[in-house]
Amino acid sequence: MNNIDQNHIWHPYSAMNSDFPVYTVKSADGVRLKLKDGRELIDGMSSWWCMIHGYNHPQMNTALEQQIKKMSHVMFGGLTHEPAIDLTQQLIDITPAPLQNVFYSDSGSVAVEVAMKMAIQYWHAKNNPSKQKFISLRSAYHGDTFAAMSVSDPETGMHSLFNGALTKQIYVKQPVSRFGEECKKEDIIELENTLKQHSNEVAALILEPIVQGAGGMWFYSADYLKHAKVLCEKYNVLLILDEIATGFGRTGKLFACEHAEIAPDIICIGKALTGGYLTLAATLTTYEVANTIDQGKPGVFMHGPTFMANPLACTAALTSINLLLDSDWQDTIKRIESQLHEGLKVCNTFKNVKEVRVLGAIGVIEMNEPVDMKHITEKFVEAGVWIRPFGKLVYLMPPFIINKTDLNLLIKALVNVINNN
Ligand code: PMP
Repeated sequence: MNNIDQNHIWHPYSAMNSDFPVYTVKSADGVRLKLKDGRELIDGMSSWWCMIHGYNHPQMNTALEQQIKKMSHVMFGGLTHEPAIDLTQQLIDITPAPLQNVFYSDSGSVAVEVAMKMAIQYWHAKNNPSKQKFISLRSAYHGDTFAAMSVSDPETGMHSLFNGALTKQIYVKQPVSRFGEECKKEDIIELENTLKQHSNEVAALILEPIVQGAGGMWFYSADYLKHAKVLCEKYNVLLILDEIATGFGRTGKLFACEHAEIAPDIICIGKALTGGYLTLAATLTTYEVANTIDQGKPGVFMHGPTFMANPLACTAALTSINLLLDSDWQDTIKRIESQLHEGLKVCNTFKNVKEVRVLGAIGVIEMNEPVDMKHITEKFVEAGVWIRPFGKLVYLMPPFIINKTDLNLLIKALVNVINNN
Protein backbone atom coordinates (compact mmCIF):
# COMPACT_ATOMS: atom_id res chain seq x y z
CA MET A 1 0.00 0.00 0.00
CA ASN A 2 1.16 3.53 -0.71
CA ASN A 3 2.90 5.12 2.33
CA ILE A 4 1.42 8.56 1.83
CA ASP A 5 -2.02 7.04 1.67
CA GLN A 6 -1.49 4.80 4.66
CA ASN A 7 0.14 7.38 6.91
CA HIS A 8 -1.49 10.64 5.91
CA ILE A 9 -4.94 10.18 4.39
CA TRP A 10 -8.17 9.38 6.12
CA HIS A 11 -10.63 7.24 4.19
CA PRO A 12 -14.33 7.08 5.19
CA TYR A 13 -14.70 5.88 8.77
CA SER A 14 -11.07 4.80 8.91
CA ALA A 15 -8.04 4.98 11.18
CA MET A 16 -4.62 6.28 10.24
CA ASN A 17 -1.93 3.63 9.79
CA SER A 18 -4.41 0.79 9.71
CA ASP A 19 -3.54 -2.45 7.96
CA PHE A 20 -6.86 -2.45 6.14
CA PRO A 21 -6.26 -2.84 2.41
CA VAL A 22 -6.81 0.22 0.22
CA TYR A 23 -6.53 -0.42 -3.52
CA THR A 24 -5.26 2.16 -6.00
CA VAL A 25 -7.66 2.62 -8.91
CA LYS A 26 -5.96 3.81 -12.07
CA SER A 27 -9.04 4.16 -14.22
CA ALA A 28 -12.58 2.90 -14.53
CA ASP A 29 -14.74 2.08 -17.50
CA GLY A 30 -18.29 0.77 -17.73
CA VAL A 31 -18.72 -1.50 -14.69
CA ARG A 32 -15.00 -2.18 -14.26
CA LEU A 33 -12.51 -0.62 -11.87
CA LYS A 34 -8.95 -0.97 -13.17
CA LEU A 35 -6.37 -1.27 -10.43
CA LYS A 36 -2.80 0.01 -10.64
CA ASP A 37 -1.51 -3.56 -10.42
CA GLY A 38 -3.44 -4.47 -13.58
CA ARG A 39 -6.32 -6.32 -11.97
CA GLU A 40 -9.89 -5.47 -12.97
CA LEU A 41 -12.83 -5.57 -10.59
CA ILE A 42 -16.53 -5.64 -11.48
CA ASP A 43 -18.14 -2.89 -9.43
CA GLY A 44 -20.98 -4.09 -7.21
CA MET A 45 -21.35 -0.81 -5.33
CA SER A 46 -21.88 1.92 -7.95
CA SER A 47 -19.42 3.85 -5.78
CA TRP A 48 -22.05 4.00 -3.00
CA TRP A 49 -25.26 4.29 -5.05
CA CYS A 50 -23.94 6.93 -7.48
CA MET A 51 -22.57 5.55 -10.76
CA ILE A 52 -25.82 4.40 -12.29
CA HIS A 53 -24.55 4.70 -15.89
CA GLY A 54 -21.13 3.26 -15.10
CA TYR A 55 -17.73 4.91 -15.39
CA ASN A 56 -16.29 6.88 -18.31
CA HIS A 57 -19.64 7.20 -20.06
CA PRO A 58 -19.18 8.81 -23.51
CA GLN A 59 -22.27 11.06 -23.34
CA MET A 60 -21.48 12.19 -19.82
CA ASN A 61 -17.88 12.89 -20.84
CA THR A 62 -18.88 14.88 -23.93
CA ALA A 63 -21.44 16.98 -22.05
CA LEU A 64 -18.87 17.86 -19.40
CA GLU A 65 -16.14 18.62 -21.95
CA GLN A 66 -18.50 21.01 -23.71
CA GLN A 67 -19.52 22.70 -20.47
CA ILE A 68 -15.96 23.08 -19.19
CA LYS A 69 -15.11 25.07 -22.31
CA LYS A 70 -17.92 27.47 -21.52
CA MET A 71 -17.54 27.81 -17.74
CA SER A 72 -16.61 25.38 -15.00
CA HIS A 73 -17.81 27.50 -12.11
CA VAL A 74 -19.36 30.82 -11.31
CA MET A 75 -20.74 32.08 -8.00
CA PHE A 76 -24.52 31.71 -7.59
CA GLY A 77 -25.07 34.87 -5.55
CA GLY A 78 -26.59 37.37 -7.96
CA LEU A 79 -25.72 35.24 -11.00
CA THR A 80 -27.41 32.30 -12.68
CA HIS A 81 -26.80 30.01 -15.67
CA GLU A 82 -28.50 27.63 -18.07
CA PRO A 83 -27.29 24.36 -16.53
CA ALA A 84 -28.97 25.33 -13.23
CA ILE A 85 -32.14 26.57 -14.93
CA ASP A 86 -32.49 23.50 -17.17
CA LEU A 87 -31.76 21.10 -14.33
CA THR A 88 -34.29 22.84 -12.11
CA GLN A 89 -37.01 22.50 -14.75
CA GLN A 90 -36.17 18.81 -15.07
CA LEU A 91 -36.19 18.21 -11.30
CA ILE A 92 -39.54 19.97 -10.93
CA ASP A 93 -40.93 17.76 -13.70
CA ILE A 94 -39.73 14.43 -12.33
CA THR A 95 -40.20 14.81 -8.57
CA PRO A 96 -43.67 14.65 -6.96
CA ALA A 97 -45.83 17.54 -8.23
CA PRO A 98 -45.99 19.80 -5.15
CA LEU A 99 -42.19 20.13 -5.05
CA GLN A 100 -41.44 23.29 -7.00
CA ASN A 101 -38.54 25.13 -5.38
CA VAL A 102 -34.95 23.93 -5.41
CA PHE A 103 -31.92 24.65 -3.23
CA TYR A 104 -28.59 23.25 -4.51
CA SER A 105 -25.74 22.17 -2.26
CA ASP A 106 -22.61 20.04 -2.45
CA SER A 107 -23.38 16.84 -0.59
CA GLY A 108 -26.18 14.74 0.79
CA SER A 109 -25.42 15.71 4.39
CA VAL A 110 -25.71 19.39 3.53
CA ALA A 111 -28.95 18.76 1.64
CA VAL A 112 -30.30 17.29 4.90
CA GLU A 113 -29.04 20.28 6.92
CA VAL A 114 -30.77 22.57 4.43
CA ALA A 115 -34.02 20.59 4.70
CA MET A 116 -33.93 20.89 8.50
CA LYS A 117 -33.26 24.63 8.32
CA MET A 118 -36.15 25.05 5.86
CA ALA A 119 -38.49 23.28 8.28
CA ILE A 120 -37.40 25.44 11.22
CA GLN A 121 -37.64 28.69 9.22
CA TYR A 122 -41.08 27.63 7.97
CA TRP A 123 -42.51 27.26 11.46
CA HIS A 124 -40.73 30.39 12.64
CA ALA A 125 -42.44 32.32 9.85
CA LYS A 126 -45.76 30.84 10.96
CA ASN A 127 -45.25 32.21 14.46
CA ASN A 128 -44.37 28.81 15.84
CA PRO A 129 -40.72 29.29 16.81
CA SER A 130 -40.85 26.49 19.39
CA LYS A 131 -41.11 23.91 16.59
CA GLN A 132 -37.38 23.23 16.18
CA LYS A 133 -37.05 19.50 16.89
CA PHE A 134 -37.18 16.53 14.57
CA ILE A 135 -38.56 13.03 14.80
CA SER A 136 -36.57 10.32 13.09
CA LEU A 137 -36.31 6.56 13.09
CA ARG A 138 -33.98 4.28 14.98
CA SER A 139 -31.44 2.85 12.50
CA ALA A 140 -31.80 5.97 10.35
CA TYR A 141 -28.81 7.44 8.58
CA HIS A 142 -28.95 10.96 7.15
CA GLY A 143 -25.29 11.99 6.94
CA ASP A 144 -22.23 12.97 8.93
CA THR A 145 -22.63 16.68 9.66
CA PHE A 146 -24.00 17.70 13.05
CA ALA A 147 -27.69 18.23 12.32
CA ALA A 148 -27.74 15.21 10.00
CA MET A 149 -26.05 13.16 12.72
CA SER A 150 -28.60 14.31 15.28
CA VAL A 151 -31.37 12.62 13.29
CA SER A 152 -29.32 9.49 12.60
CA ASP A 153 -29.35 6.43 14.87
CA PRO A 154 -28.00 7.45 18.29
CA GLU A 155 -26.01 4.25 18.77
CA THR A 156 -24.43 3.73 15.37
CA GLY A 157 -23.97 7.53 15.15
CA MET A 158 -22.11 7.40 18.50
CA HIS A 159 -24.21 10.23 19.99
CA SER A 160 -22.73 9.60 23.42
CA LEU A 161 -19.33 10.57 22.02
CA PHE A 162 -20.68 13.87 20.73
CA ASN A 163 -22.93 14.44 23.72
CA GLY A 164 -23.37 18.16 24.24
CA ALA A 165 -22.55 19.03 20.65
CA LEU A 166 -25.55 17.27 19.16
CA THR A 167 -29.13 18.50 19.43
CA LYS A 168 -31.31 15.92 21.16
CA GLN A 169 -34.00 14.76 18.77
CA ILE A 170 -36.89 12.32 19.17
CA TYR A 171 -36.71 8.75 17.88
CA VAL A 172 -39.31 6.17 17.07
CA LYS A 173 -38.49 2.56 16.41
CA GLN A 174 -37.70 1.23 12.98
CA PRO A 175 -40.89 -0.08 11.29
CA VAL A 176 -41.11 -3.85 11.53
CA SER A 177 -43.62 -3.99 8.66
CA ARG A 178 -41.78 -5.15 5.59
CA PHE A 179 -41.90 -3.90 2.04
CA GLY A 180 -44.92 -5.43 0.29
CA GLU A 181 -46.84 -5.84 3.57
CA GLU A 182 -49.54 -3.70 5.06
CA CYS A 183 -48.37 -1.62 7.96
CA LYS A 184 -48.75 -3.30 11.35
CA LYS A 185 -50.64 -1.37 14.02
CA GLU A 186 -47.67 -1.36 16.41
CA ASP A 187 -45.61 0.70 13.95
CA ILE A 188 -48.29 3.34 13.56
CA ILE A 189 -49.25 3.55 17.21
CA GLU A 190 -45.78 4.57 18.33
CA LEU A 191 -45.41 7.07 15.52
CA GLU A 192 -48.81 8.61 16.21
CA ASN A 193 -48.25 8.80 19.97
CA THR A 194 -44.90 10.49 19.46
CA LEU A 195 -46.30 13.00 16.97
CA LYS A 196 -49.25 13.74 19.26
CA GLN A 197 -47.08 14.20 22.33
CA HIS A 198 -44.42 16.40 20.70
CA SER A 199 -46.29 18.21 17.94
CA ASN A 200 -45.81 21.63 19.57
CA GLU A 201 -42.01 21.29 19.49
CA VAL A 202 -41.48 19.25 16.30
CA ALA A 203 -40.75 20.92 12.96
CA ALA A 204 -40.63 17.76 10.85
CA LEU A 205 -40.50 14.01 10.67
CA ILE A 206 -37.52 12.89 8.59
CA LEU A 207 -37.43 9.46 6.92
CA GLU A 208 -35.48 7.51 4.34
CA PRO A 209 -38.43 6.26 2.27
CA ILE A 210 -38.74 2.46 1.81
CA VAL A 211 -35.03 1.67 2.27
CA GLN A 212 -33.12 2.43 5.42
CA GLY A 213 -29.65 2.36 3.91
CA ALA A 214 -26.54 2.67 6.06
CA GLY A 215 -28.67 1.84 9.12
CA GLY A 216 -29.29 -1.74 8.05
CA MET A 217 -30.39 -2.01 4.39
CA TRP A 218 -33.91 -2.54 5.69
CA PHE A 219 -36.85 -2.48 3.24
CA TYR A 220 -40.06 -1.40 4.96
CA SER A 221 -43.74 -1.10 4.16
CA ALA A 222 -44.92 1.57 1.71
CA ASP A 223 -48.10 1.63 3.76
CA TYR A 224 -46.06 2.94 6.73
CA LEU A 225 -45.10 5.93 4.59
CA LYS A 226 -48.73 6.54 3.66
CA HIS A 227 -49.67 6.58 7.33
CA ALA A 228 -46.70 8.81 8.16
CA LYS A 229 -47.87 11.36 5.58
CA VAL A 230 -51.42 11.41 6.96
CA LEU A 231 -50.19 11.66 10.56
CA CYS A 232 -47.82 14.52 9.75
CA GLU A 233 -50.73 16.49 8.31
CA LYS A 234 -52.93 15.62 11.26
CA TYR A 235 -50.36 16.82 13.82
CA ASN A 236 -49.03 19.82 11.90
CA VAL A 237 -45.57 18.48 11.31
CA LEU A 238 -43.69 18.69 8.00
CA LEU A 239 -42.52 15.52 6.26
CA ILE A 240 -38.93 15.43 4.97
CA LEU A 241 -37.99 12.49 2.77
CA ASP A 242 -34.31 11.73 2.35
CA GLU A 243 -34.10 10.16 -1.14
CA ILE A 244 -30.34 10.64 -1.35
CA ALA A 245 -29.74 6.90 -1.67
CA THR A 246 -33.09 5.78 -3.09
CA GLY A 247 -33.59 8.46 -5.77
CA PHE A 248 -33.18 7.95 -9.52
CA GLY A 249 -34.60 4.49 -10.00
CA ARG A 250 -32.68 2.30 -7.57
CA THR A 251 -35.80 0.81 -5.93
CA GLY A 252 -37.71 0.36 -9.20
CA LYS A 253 -39.49 3.74 -9.00
CA LEU A 254 -37.84 7.00 -9.94
CA PHE A 255 -38.25 8.06 -6.30
CA ALA A 256 -39.02 5.60 -3.53
CA CYS A 257 -41.93 7.70 -2.21
CA GLU A 258 -43.78 6.74 -5.42
CA HIS A 259 -44.21 3.22 -3.95
CA ALA A 260 -46.52 4.89 -1.43
CA GLU A 261 -47.93 7.48 -3.85
CA ILE A 262 -47.14 10.30 -1.47
CA ALA A 263 -45.39 13.64 -1.80
CA PRO A 264 -43.32 15.06 1.05
CA ASP A 265 -43.09 18.74 1.99
CA ILE A 266 -39.34 18.59 1.49
CA ILE A 267 -37.18 16.07 -0.38
CA CYS A 268 -33.40 15.62 -0.36
CA ILE A 269 -31.59 14.17 -3.36
CA GLY A 270 -27.90 13.58 -4.12
CA LYS A 271 -25.63 10.63 -4.97
CA ALA A 272 -26.96 9.36 -8.36
CA LEU A 273 -28.21 12.88 -9.18
CA THR A 274 -25.06 13.49 -11.26
CA GLY A 275 -24.64 9.84 -12.30
CA GLY A 276 -21.80 9.91 -9.78
CA TYR A 277 -19.68 12.25 -11.87
CA LEU A 278 -19.53 15.24 -9.55
CA THR A 279 -20.71 16.12 -6.11
CA LEU A 280 -24.11 17.79 -6.11
CA ALA A 281 -27.21 17.55 -3.95
CA ALA A 282 -30.53 19.34 -3.89
CA THR A 283 -33.32 20.04 -1.44
CA LEU A 284 -36.72 20.62 -3.03
CA THR A 285 -39.78 22.00 -1.33
CA THR A 286 -43.29 23.27 -2.04
CA TYR A 287 -44.43 26.81 -2.90
CA GLU A 288 -46.21 26.86 0.43
CA VAL A 289 -43.00 26.22 2.39
CA ALA A 290 -40.86 28.51 0.22
CA ASN A 291 -43.35 31.38 0.25
CA THR A 292 -43.92 31.10 3.97
CA ILE A 293 -40.16 31.30 4.57
CA ASP A 294 -40.01 34.41 2.37
CA GLN A 295 -42.74 36.07 4.40
CA GLY A 296 -41.09 35.43 7.75
CA LYS A 297 -38.00 37.00 9.25
CA PRO A 298 -35.36 37.64 7.92
CA GLY A 299 -37.26 37.33 4.61
CA VAL A 300 -34.66 35.07 3.02
CA PHE A 301 -33.64 31.46 3.35
CA MET A 302 -30.47 31.42 5.44
CA HIS A 303 -28.03 29.25 3.51
CA GLY A 304 -25.64 29.83 0.58
CA PRO A 305 -22.74 27.49 -0.20
CA THR A 306 -19.74 28.69 -2.26
CA PHE A 307 -20.16 25.96 -4.86
CA MET A 308 -23.95 26.20 -5.00
CA ALA A 309 -25.30 24.95 -8.36
CA ASN A 310 -21.84 24.44 -9.83
CA PRO A 311 -22.38 24.51 -13.62
CA LEU A 312 -20.34 21.36 -14.29
CA ALA A 313 -22.24 19.45 -11.63
CA CYS A 314 -25.59 20.73 -12.95
CA THR A 315 -24.59 19.67 -16.48
CA ALA A 316 -23.64 16.22 -15.21
CA ALA A 317 -26.99 15.96 -13.40
CA LEU A 318 -29.05 17.03 -16.39
CA THR A 319 -27.18 14.67 -18.73
CA SER A 320 -27.47 11.79 -16.27
CA ILE A 321 -31.21 12.30 -15.76
CA ASN A 322 -31.78 12.48 -19.53
CA LEU A 323 -29.75 9.29 -20.04
CA LEU A 324 -31.86 7.56 -17.41
CA LEU A 325 -35.21 8.79 -18.74
CA ASP A 326 -34.25 7.94 -22.33
CA SER A 327 -33.43 4.35 -21.35
CA ASP A 328 -35.78 1.47 -20.51
CA TRP A 329 -34.75 1.89 -16.91
CA GLN A 330 -37.84 0.23 -15.40
CA ASP A 331 -37.19 -2.94 -17.41
CA THR A 332 -33.50 -2.75 -16.55
CA ILE A 333 -34.21 -2.57 -12.83
CA LYS A 334 -36.69 -5.45 -13.11
CA ARG A 335 -34.09 -7.53 -14.95
CA ILE A 336 -31.44 -6.79 -12.30
CA GLU A 337 -33.98 -7.48 -9.53
CA SER A 338 -34.96 -10.89 -10.86
CA GLN A 339 -31.32 -11.85 -11.49
CA LEU A 340 -30.41 -10.84 -7.93
CA HIS A 341 -33.39 -12.85 -6.60
CA GLU A 342 -32.44 -15.92 -8.60
CA GLY A 343 -28.73 -15.75 -7.94
CA LEU A 344 -28.71 -14.83 -4.26
CA LYS A 345 -31.50 -17.12 -2.99
CA VAL A 346 -29.06 -20.02 -2.51
CA CYS A 347 -27.47 -17.99 0.31
CA ASN A 348 -30.63 -18.62 2.36
CA THR A 349 -29.36 -22.19 2.75
CA PHE A 350 -25.98 -21.11 4.18
CA LYS A 351 -25.53 -21.48 7.94
CA ASN A 352 -23.79 -18.10 8.28
CA VAL A 353 -26.62 -16.22 6.53
CA LYS A 354 -29.63 -14.82 8.38
CA GLU A 355 -31.60 -13.53 5.41
CA VAL A 356 -31.48 -12.48 1.76
CA ARG A 357 -33.45 -9.39 0.70
CA VAL A 358 -33.83 -7.94 -2.78
CA LEU A 359 -35.58 -4.76 -3.89
CA GLY A 360 -35.04 -3.15 -7.29
CA ALA A 361 -31.33 -3.04 -8.04
CA ILE A 362 -30.38 -3.72 -4.40
CA GLY A 363 -29.46 -7.21 -3.19
CA VAL A 364 -28.71 -7.67 0.51
CA ILE A 365 -27.32 -10.63 2.41
CA GLU A 366 -27.66 -10.23 6.15
CA MET A 367 -25.15 -12.48 7.91
CA ASN A 368 -25.57 -13.88 11.41
CA GLU A 369 -22.32 -12.25 12.55
CA PRO A 370 -20.41 -9.16 11.43
CA VAL A 371 -17.97 -10.01 8.65
CA ASP A 372 -14.20 -9.68 8.96
CA MET A 373 -13.84 -6.69 6.63
CA LYS A 374 -10.16 -7.14 5.87
CA HIS A 375 -10.44 -10.80 5.09
CA ILE A 376 -13.63 -10.60 3.06
CA THR A 377 -12.47 -7.56 1.05
CA GLU A 378 -9.30 -9.42 0.07
CA LYS A 379 -11.37 -12.44 -0.95
CA PHE A 380 -13.67 -10.29 -3.09
CA VAL A 381 -10.74 -8.62 -4.82
CA GLU A 382 -9.13 -12.02 -5.46
CA ALA A 383 -12.44 -13.04 -7.04
CA GLY A 384 -12.39 -9.98 -9.30
CA VAL A 385 -15.25 -8.01 -7.76
CA TRP A 386 -15.62 -4.83 -5.73
CA ILE A 387 -18.05 -5.35 -2.85
CA ARG A 388 -17.83 -3.40 0.39
CA PRO A 389 -19.83 -4.89 3.25
CA PHE A 390 -20.47 -3.25 6.61
CA GLY A 391 -21.24 -5.05 9.86
CA LYS A 392 -23.45 -8.03 9.10
CA LEU A 393 -24.48 -6.70 5.71
CA VAL A 394 -23.00 -7.77 2.42
CA TYR A 395 -24.84 -6.15 -0.46
CA LEU A 396 -24.87 -5.39 -4.15
CA MET A 397 -26.14 -2.29 -5.90
CA PRO A 398 -24.47 -2.45 -9.30
CA PRO A 399 -24.52 0.25 -11.99
CA PHE A 400 -27.75 -0.02 -14.02
CA ILE A 401 -25.72 -0.65 -17.20
CA ILE A 402 -24.38 -3.98 -15.92
CA ASN A 403 -25.14 -6.75 -18.41
CA LYS A 404 -26.42 -10.23 -17.60
CA THR A 405 -22.99 -11.87 -17.87
CA ASP A 406 -21.21 -9.40 -15.61
CA LEU A 407 -24.02 -9.48 -13.06
CA ASN A 408 -23.76 -13.25 -13.07
CA LEU A 409 -20.02 -13.05 -12.41
CA LEU A 410 -20.63 -10.57 -9.60
CA ILE A 411 -23.32 -12.72 -7.98
CA LYS A 412 -21.30 -15.93 -8.33
CA ALA A 413 -18.22 -14.35 -6.77
CA LEU A 414 -20.33 -13.05 -3.89
CA VAL A 415 -22.04 -16.38 -3.28
CA ASN A 416 -18.71 -18.27 -3.34
CA VAL A 417 -17.00 -15.92 -0.92
CA ILE A 418 -19.96 -15.99 1.48
CA ASN A 419 -20.18 -19.77 1.28
CA ASN A 420 -16.50 -20.17 2.17
CA ASN A 421 -16.37 -17.35 4.70
N1 PMP B 1 -28.73 10.39 3.50
C1 PMP B 1 -28.64 9.12 3.08
C2 PMP B 1 -29.87 8.27 3.05
C3 PMP B 1 -27.39 8.60 2.70
O1 PMP B 1 -27.31 7.31 2.31
C4 PMP B 1 -26.26 9.44 2.72
C5 PMP B 1 -24.88 8.95 2.30
N2 PMP B 1 -24.58 7.66 2.53
C6 PMP B 1 -26.41 10.76 3.15
C7 PMP B 1 -27.67 11.20 3.53
C8 PMP B 1 -25.24 11.69 3.21
O2 PMP B 1 -24.79 12.00 1.96
P1 PMP B 1 -23.27 12.49 1.72
O3 PMP B 1 -22.39 11.34 2.05
O4 PMP B 1 -23.25 12.88 0.27
O5 PMP B 1 -23.05 13.66 2.62
